[in-house]
Amino acid sequence: MIQRRDAGATWSGNHRYRATEVLLPGDLDELAEVVASARSLRVQATRHTFNDIADTDAALVSLERLPTHVEVVDGRVRVEGLVTFAQLAPVIEAEGRALHNLGSLPHISVAGATATGTHGSGVRNGNLSSAIRAVEIMDADGRMHRIDQTHDRFGAAALSLGALGVVTAVELQTEPTYDITQQAYTGVAWADIAGDPERVLGGSRSVSVFTTWGDPAHDLVWAKSDDGTPDWVEELGGRPVGDDIHLGRIRTVDNTTPRGTAGPWHTRLPHFRADALPSDGDEIQTEYFVPLASAREALAAVKAIAPAFEAQLLVTELRTVAADELWLSPAYRRDVLAIHFTWRNDTAGVLAVLPSIEEALAPFDARPHWGKAFTLPGESVRASLTRVDDFLAAAREVDPRGVFRNDFLRRTVGL
Ligand SMILES: Cc1cc2nc3c(=O)[nH]c(=O)nc-3n(C[C@H](O)[C@H](O)[C@H](O)COP(=O)(O)OP(=O)(O)OC[C@H]3O[C@@H](n4cnc5c(N)ncnc54)[C@H](O)[C@@H]3O)c2cc1C
Repeated sequence: MIQRRDAGATWSGNHRYRATEVLLPGDLDELAEVVASARSLRVQATRHTFNDIADTDAALVSLERLPTHVEVVDGRVRVEGLVTFAQLAPVIEAEGRALHNLGSLPHISVAGATATGTHGSGVRNGNLSSAIRAVEIMDADGRMHRIDQTHDRFGAAALSLGALGVVTAVELQTEPTYDITQQAYTGVAWADIAGDPERVLGGSRSVSVFTTWGDPAHDLVWAKSDDGTPDWVEELGGRPVGDDIHLGRIRTVDNTTPRGTAGPWHTRLPHFRADALPSDGDEIQTEYFVPLASAREALAAVKAIAPAFEAQLLVTELRTVAADELWLSPAYRRDVLAIHFTWRNDTAGVLAVLPSIEEALAPFDARPHWGKAFTLPGESVRASLTRVDDFLAAAREVDPRGVFRNDFLRRTVGL
């Protein structure tokens, strides 16, 4: 029997869902019943978004009562239903396999993260959606479709914003398992980071820079390598931080993954441990993507206006994402610098400062993170997405009734 519960709020509580309730089907037949009878429907997964992308004025649906099989076949892993990276990783690790990268936390769902282009860092690492090789989607009539890389709508389906239907399973590319050693360093001068961001962010397999755009004591280079501790950070004056790590103004608690020792990929690639609250908890996040080739100029433009937003900021994280072929990807056909902001959980204060950052980044054709807070007008969002018309055509074709459309999609991409 289909169960129901309250729609609640996003993980950090910054957005309370307008949706009337969450429907919880127990199998694919019940899911088909929910979908086919819905006027409007969005999927609620692990709720780690910071805007209304998952919302609707009717009911939401959750896959949490559906089976969660994880199966490795021919170098790929097929993941069903509401599985998180924390659940997926040890299963494939036990079979000697790994993913190419992970985000800063393993608590998020595979389907929700890939629907929004969630990413880690690394100049050679595409976002998590780029590992998708096939998706199984239930359309608005309750019919199943398998869309693999040979399908002409694959570029829309692997990073779909939930607009093509309910993703019931994904297949991800895996690779042989590997170990990572990570270390976080203070003492690297901002002039070196901002003067040659590609050198710093490209120094190891995955590099993040944390900063508050002012106090050098907050500047941190966090490097994750598959060939031991990197020399290049120490050559730039970096000193390992030891146990007492601080990410800008985030209250630091014991929630980070081990540094200084080698360990399996999934125990080192996320900054935050699966058994602890990630980040701060009481926060809002924003992120913009600019071409990596413009990184130096884009950082200078944000630095110049930092006094205008500094009071709202807990910390900024800089990362890189390699180019991909997914139509709505912030990294579609361009390597990007990701400029992230963790804000105090003050919606009005954050919305007031975002336009100045968006204006500063406008010359660089900035694209927003789909799961985070932004105020860019739809025309700017659409202008930055070369394949948006193809995406809209695909979404209208598979969902002519507009069941999976919502205010967010109307406002941002014009669906
Ligand atoms: C502490 C924290 C740290 C973060 N770190 C990172 C990071 O390192 N990198 C990064 O890029 N982002 C990061 N994020 C953002 C987050 O990863 C993304 O916003 C992601 O989309 C969250 O997925 P979710 O399933 O939790 O969210 P949800 O809001 O539940 O889902 C996200 C979207 O996917 C859709 N969706 C979910 N499941 C399905 C499905 N089965 N079928 C169809 N549509 C579906 C939803 O409708 C919604 O539109 C972080 C967020 C938090 C809170």
